[in-house]
Amino acid sequence: MANINILSPHLADMIAAGEVVERPASVLKELIENSFDAGAMNVTVEIRDGGMSYIRVVDDGCGMSPEDAGVAFIRHATSKLHDEAGLDSIATMGFRGEALAAISAVSNMEIITREKGTNEGVRLTLSAGDIDDMVPFGCPEGTTVIVRNIFYNTPARQKFMKSDRAETSACIAASLKCALGRPDVSVRFLKDGEEAFFSPGDGKLDSCLYSLLGREEASGMLSCRATNENLSLDGFISSPAEGRGNRAHQYFFVNGRHIKSQLIQSALEQAYRDTLLVGKYPACVLYLTLPYAAVDVNVHPAKTEVRFANEKQIFDFICTTCKAALNAEDRLAPKAETIPETKSQTFVRPEPPRTVPEYHAPEFHTEVHYEQPSIFSLRQDAQTSEFSPKPAYSAPVKAENVEKPVQNVETQVGVHYNIIGEAFKTYIIVEHNGEIILIDKHAAHERLNFDRLCAQKNAICSQMLLTQSTLRLSDAECEILEKNGELLSELGFEIEPYGENSYIVRSVPVDLDTAQVVPAIEEILDKLSSGKTIDPEERRREVLHTVACKAAIKAGWDTDDLELQKLVDEVISGRIKYCPHGRPISATVTRKDLDKLFKRIV
Ligand code: ADP
Ligand code: MG
Repeated sequence: MANINILSPHLADMIAAGEVVERPASVLKELIENSFDAGAMNVTVEIRDGGMSYIRVVDDGCGMSPEDAGVAFIRHATSKLHDEAGLDSIATMGFRGEALAAISAVSNMEIITREKGTNEGVRLTLSAGDIDDMVPFGCPEGTTVIVRNIFYNTPARQKFMKSDRAETSACIAASLKCALGRPDVSVRFLKDGEEAFFSPGDGKLDSCLYSLLGREEASGMLSCRATNENLSLDGFISSPAEGRGNRAHQYFFVNGRHIKSQLIQSALEQAYRDTLLVGKYPACVLYLTLPYAAVDVNVHPAKTEVRFANEKQIFDFICTTCKAALNAEDRLAPKAETIPETKSQTFVRPEPPRTVPEYHAPEFHTEVHYEQPSIFSLRQDAQTSEFSPKPAYSAPVKAENVEKPVQNVETQVGVHYNIIGEAFKTYIIVEHNGEIILIDKHAAHERLNFDRLCAQKNAICSQMLLTQSTLRLSDAECEILEKNGELLSELGFEIEPYGENSYIVRSVPVDLDTAQVVPAIEEILDKLSSGKTIDPEERRREVLHTVACKAAIKAGWDTDDLELQKLVDEVISGRIKYCPHGRPISATVTRKDLDKLFKRIV
């Protein structure tokens, strides 16, 4: 029988360190969070060799007295949590009292700190969790923590470290998330002596995003804001035309803390349903603020996950707010001026057409102001941002391709536009408000059909076919048809067996043309067979996608003026922007774009 030992506190710390300190990036996250908790306004982070040989975090926060500094690295030493009740409403980033203990257990650590309002600081050096030296020290107010030779005494963990490069990018990513979480704190990151990023800390979300994510990523995003009695959401989301290839560009913050959240991710993605291309994901930086008691942050050792008291309410709030932000994309709005590249990390803020609300750290939030959406300082028109004067695309339309004469039209809401004609029987050309708008007539019609079908809920209008179509199906297709009989009849298809592997189609949704009946049903059966669409609501939408598409006018078809005008009305009014698969319905070329193209202006 083995002898049972109680582990020494030192060994217990080393084991616990594994949970909190996985790699240099996790050390940085903990140290930066400590600086935020200390009320710092400026934080400088420095790493060398991917953080393996050297990490330094300098802040101008409240600092520590020599007595506090002498115990800060003991396990469960914290100034942030005093009793059990405190655990129910945590307002700080830290609360477990573990980070300094865990980090110091596996490194050589140096802490230099001076408490605000005192005359002298203190310097401590520790190795493997024990104090080597503690002396009075002349230093500015605030705290500097230096971590050298991480994992020097735990070779097993050292082996798991990746290349310097990989560790460096993990360090940058972790620090960037912290910095994004607090637009009111300036964070500077230096790697091997070079600046990797810098946030101005002016409390403005737009400047924070531009400086941290860069112009490429930030421009074109849409403002997303709302508040109700106990929740508020602020931030930016990408326009559907700017979908990303993965979810790495989704940043969620809850009360200033960066977290991973399946719930928020699903709510966000639900808002983009039927507007994003398949395989594309939205990008976002979203800040959710809610009462501390409504969220449990003590569910993960590294505090990267949270549990919400009322999940449904949060899901609906986020989804509705994001949907509203996508709809608010007003293509008649003034465009932002070109925003300069953030060169040498100096953020140059453009003259904003509207005021940008200031961001306040949740801890100091007393009142949330919700002004007019501030999208204009960041976003560009989704369609125009797509426009780049490539010769093939922007070449002036040839006279013979213009199918229709100019029509002067005034919409019901009194907006004037001229339909110049149609190019390639595919794109409607409209002159409106100093811009040329090109509209993909099929995409526009498809979106209108889809919205109308969705609005009919369970009672899709059906039409009896005068000439009934017959279907001849494979065994597999028959099976799918039988399985989905109820769904199809709900959606306006009346299909009856007619001999072996044959069916007769008596009715179809009103919009469908006779010639499209068989291809539509074949496509629907194919979609229903793919196994991807298990969710009943999803299956329903897939069928409606097909009906909407098959019932839409096609590129190359002759379309009468009234029909074209109806489509233009819908686009100009801003009611439709993307086809159900996420392709943009229109693109805009401004007068300025054309003048530049022809070198009238430079
Ligand atoms: P926690 O953050 O969970 O309290 P830590 O081990 O990270 O635990 O820190 C222990 C304590 O050390 C903190 O509660 C705080 O009082 C003090 N401390 C750590 N870092 C700083 C800092 N940068 N400035 C001021 N105090 C700090
Ligand atoms: Mg901490």
